[in-house]
Amino acid sequence: MYGLMMDHPLTLAQILEHAYRIHTDKHVTTLLPNGTLHRYDYATLYGRVKRLANALTELGIQRGDRIATYAANTYQHLELYYAIPCLGAVLHPLNVRLSPTQLAQIVHEAEDKLVFVDSAYATQFQALQDKMGPIHTVYFGPKSPDTDTCYEQLFSDAKPAYTWDIRDENSAMGLCYTSGTHGEPRGVLYTHRSMFLHTLAANQADVFGLTETDVVLPIVPMFHAMAWGLPYASMFAGADIVLPGTKITAIADLIADTGVTVAAGVPTIWAAAYPELQKRRTDISSLRRVIVGGEAMPHALIESYEKELGVEICHAWGMTEMSPTGTLSKLRAGHQNLTDTEKWRIKAKQGRPIPGVQLRLAAETADGFKELPWDGKTIGELQVRSPWTANRYYKIAPTPEHFTTDKWLRTGDMATIDAEGYVQIVDRAKSLIRSGGESISSIALETALLKHPYVREAAVVGIPDDKWGERPIAVVVCTEKGGENISDTLRQQLAAEFPKFWIPDKFVFADEIPKTSVGKSDKRAILTQLTGTQNPTEKNRIFSPTQKK
Ligand code: AMP
Repeated sequence: MYGLMMDHPLTLAQILEHAYRIHTDKHVTTLLPNGTLHRYDYATLYGRVKRLANALTELGIQRGDRIATYAANTYQHLELYYAIPCLGAVLHPLNVRLSPTQLAQIVHEAEDKLVFVDSAYATQFQALQDKMGPIHTVYFGPKSPDTDTCYEQLFSDAKPAYTWDIRDENSAMGLCYTSGTHGEPRGVLYTHRSMFLHTLAANQADVFGLTETDVVLPIVPMFHAMAWGLPYASMFAGADIVLPGTKITAIADLIADTGVTVAAGVPTIWAAAYPELQKRRTDISSLRRVIVGGEAMPHALIESYEKELGVEICHAWGMTEMSPTGTLSKLRAGHQNLTDTEKWRIKAKQGRPIPGVQLRLAAETADGFKELPWDGKTIGELQVRSPWTANRYYKIAPTPEHFTTDKWLRTGDMATIDAEGYVQIVDRAKSLIRSGGESISSIALETALLKHPYVREAAVVGIPDDKWGERPIAVVVCTEKGGENISDTLRQQLAAEFPKFWIPDKFVFADEIPKTSVGKSDKRAILTQLTGTQNPTEKNRIFSPTQKK
C-alpha cells in the first residue's frame, strides 16, 4: 500500500528558492585577488543565477550536459553551483591542483561541454588547454584575445525569468573526481536527491549545526567533494557565506573583517593558520566552530584551538564518494565530566556516523565479508552505505575492490569502532604498515609525534625491509624550537606510548612534507622520495632542500 503524500522531488532548486524567499537579505562576501571584498545579498545571487540559467540555455547547454569549472571559492563559482544543476545540467568542478595531463583525461572522460575559468588561474589554465584541445571557455574576468566568452557578458542579454523544471530527483547534479591520493582519480556522480538529503543531514544540530545566525567560511576548495556540501547547507540554513577566493593564507584578516562564526578546511590549513589566529585572538572572537576533515586532526591541534582560542573543533570523516560526510566527533552527554585531555582524545577520533549513514567493520574471508565487533580494539575495513553514498563510479563498472556484493562501499580505510559507535581510523588499508606480521598505524604515530612542541608536521610511512617486510620511517618538520638532534627525544616519547617494534627505524628531517592536490600529506610522494634516496639518514634533508621553513 502506498502512502498518500506528495511526491515532491528533492532538488537543489528547492534550496535556492527557499534561500531567496526566506533569507533574501543574507549575504555572500568574496575576497577578491586585489584584497577588497565583493558583497551582495541572496536576492542578487538569485537574480544572477536565473539569468545565468537562461544564458547557458542560449549557449546550447541541455539537460545532462557536463559543465566544468576551473575556479577558486568565489561568488561566480557559487552562482554556477546553483545555475548548472538547477537547469538540469551537471556541475563538474575541476581540481586546479591536478596536473594538466590528469585534468585533460578527466575532462575527456567527463565529456565536458564548457569550462568556466577563474581569471586568477588563467595562466595555469593555458597549460591545460594545450593538452585538452578545443573546448568552449568562459572567463570570469574581462574579455581578452584568448577568451571565448566573458562571464559578465552572459548576464547582459539574458532574460531574468527562468522556471526550474527538474522532475526526477535522481537526475545527476554534480560530478567530482576523487583526489587521486590512492590511485587514479575516479568520478563520483551525485544526484539532486543525494545532495538534498546530505544537506538536511549536514545541518542537524549534532552535525555541522549551521543556523541563520552563522557566517560560514568554506576554505575547503569548491572542487574538493563539493566543498563538503557547505554551499548548499549554508544557504538552506540562511547563513551568510564568506568565500576566500585564492587567498587561503589571509584567514585571520578575513574572519576579523567579516565576523565568520564557522569555518571549514583540512588540518593542514588549521595548522598553518594557528600562529596568526593566536596573535589575533580578540579580533577573531566571532569564530565559534571549525569543521575539519579530509585527514586526521591531531590531538595537539584540537587542544590548541579549543584551549587557547576557545574554538570548538568538529572533526569529521568522509569521502568524495559520500558527498562527503560520514562521521563526526562530538562529545556525548555522558562525557561532560571527563577531563579536558580525555575529551580531546575522543574528539581526535573520527566520530560517530551521522544520521542516515550506516557503517560496518568488516574482514574479508573465503566466503565474503565477516562483520567485526565494535570493541574499540578490533581493526577492520570500514564499509558504508547511505542515501548520499555512490553505488558505482562514473563510467567504471562496479568491481569487488570498491563495492561488496551486498552493496556496501568499501572505503579502503582501516578502523576500529568502539561500543559507543566512535570510529577511529587507523590507516588507509594501503598505508597500514605491516611489520613482522603485525600492523603499525601511521596515523597513531603521527598524532603522537605532533604532541611534541618541536614538531610542526609529521608523516610516517612503511618502507620495504628484507627481514620484517616493512619498517616505519618518520618524516618530521620541526618548529623553530626544534633541531635535527631531537630524534632521541622523539624516540623516547613514542616508546612511552607504543610497543618497541612500532618505533620508527629512522627520523628524517625535512623542510616540508609533500602535499596532495587537496592539501593532505602525500604518502606516495614521500615513499618515492625515501626509497629513491640512497640510505636516508638524519642528516639528509631529502625533501625540497632549497625550500626554507
Ligand atoms: P577524499 O575523497 O579525497 O576526501 O579522501 C577520502 C579519504 O580521506 C578517506 O577515505 C580517508 O582515508 C581520509 N580521511 C577523510 N577524513 C579523515 C579524517 N578525519 N581522519 C582520517 N582520514 C580521513
